[in-house]
Amino acid sequence: MVPIALLASLAAIIYAASYLALCAVSPWGRCRRCQGRRSHRTAIGTRRDCPRCDGTGIRVRTGRRLLDYIRTEYQAGNR
Ligand SMILES: [Zn+2]
Repeated sequence: MVPIALLASLAAIIYAASYLALCAVSPWGRCRRCQGRRSHRTAIGTRRDCPRCDGTGIRVRTGRRLLDYIRTEYQAGNR
């Protein structure tokens, strides 16, 4: 019989792998702060570009940043 802990870690690995695959295929996600609306209302009622995504409404996924970081480190080590 397979131990539950092994199954759980296997599921976590599969989940992480599919998440990283998603980040590799589609690096952009919707900005969580403005929900993709690109701007937000200030206290006095004017609209301003979302400071988090600079008014683009999209942001780079965290996993994609991780992939880029790993790639940069890898290339730096193979120069
Ligand atoms: Zn935003």
